[in-house]
Amino acid sequence: MKLNGVLGPVESSALGCTLMHEHITNADWSMRMNFQDKFLEPDVVIDLAAKKLIKAKETCGITTLVDGTAINNGRDPWIIREVAERSGVNIIMSCGLYANDEGWLTRRPQEHIFQLFDNECRNGIADTGILPGMMKAAIGHAGLTEIQTKVHSAAVECALKNNLNIFVHHEALAENGHQVLDLYQKLGMPMERVILGDVGDTTDLDYIHSLLDRGVWIGMDRFGYCNFLLGFEDRIRTIAQLCKEGYANRMILSHDLSSCLATRVPWEEFKAKGTDTDVDYTYIHTDVIPALLRSGATEQDIHTMLQENPVRYFEGK
Ligand SMILES: [Zn+2]
Repeated sequence: MKLNGVLGPVESSALGCTLMHEHITNADWSMRMNFQDKFLEPDVVIDLAAKKLIKAKETCGITTLVDGTAINNGRDPWIIREVAERSGVNIIMSCGLYANDEGWLTRRPQEHIFQLFDNECRNGIADTGILPGMMKAAIGHAGLTEIQTKVHSAAVECALKNNLNIFVHHEALAENGHQVLDLYQKLGMPMERVILGDVGDTTDLDYIHSLLDRGVWIGMDRFGYCNFLLGFEDRIRTIAQLCKEGYANRMILSHDLSSCLATRVPWEEFKAKGTDTDVDYTYIHTDVIPALLRSGATEQDIHTMLQENPVRYFEGK
C-alpha cells in the first residue's frame, strides 16, 4: 500500500523502523511571523533536526519518522521537507488541528473546517504539494467542547473520505480517551485505524485494558517526557506488563520529541545550546529497549512495536 510521504509516495512495506509520534518543530506561527529571526531561524532548525535524524538513522537504524504536528501547533512543511531531503529518513506529515478552542473556530461550521482539511489532503499542503499521510486530532483537559466536537468530526470526515488514519493526542491522566473514541465510533471511524496517543503517561492498567478492548492502537509514545507526568521506570513497567499479556501487537513506541519546541528558552539560548530537550530520537534505542528487555519484554515484542505495528496500522489491520 502506498502512503503519502513528504518527498512522495512510500510503500507501507518499506517503512522499516518507525517512530510513530515525533515532531520536527513546534514553533508558534504568530510569533515567527512577528519576531522572525528573534524567535526562530528556520535554517538553524533544519540543520539541527537533520543532524538529529541522521544520528538516529545511522546509530539506531530509524528509517521513518511520523511528524504528528498539528497545523496550529507550528507545523512547517518547508522545514520538514528540507529535513527529509537532507536526512534521507522518510517523514510522514499530518493534517488536523490541536485541541485549542481558537476564536476563529467559534463561528465556523464543521463543513468549512472539513473543506480546509480536505483541500490539503487532495491538493497538498500550502504550495509544497506535500500530501498528509495521516490526520492528527487532540482532546485536551477541557474535553469535547462544542468547538472541539466540530474539529474532531471534520477530521474523521476527512479521514474517511481520503482513506487516512487518525492519531489522537489525549490526556491519559484525565482518562478522556473514551469520550473521543465514542464520537469516532458514532461517526463510523474504524477503531483499527486510530492510534490513541499519550497512553504512556498512565500506569492505570484497568483504563488501558478498557481502551485496548475497543480495538484501538495505543501510543506508549512519551519517552521524551520522562521528567514530566510519569517517570521512566513506571513507563517501562507498564509496557513490559502489557507485552507479557500479549498486547505488543497493539502498542507503538515513540518519544513525542521536537527538535525545536521554541517554548522553553529564548532563541539565542537555544541556538547556543543546540537543543531544548534532554534526550533525542535515539533514546528508545539507547535506554528504552534495554530496559524493556530487562523487564521481560522479548526481542520479538520490540520488533513488533517498532517495525510491524506501523505497517499494520497504516494498512488498517
Ligand atoms: Zn506530540
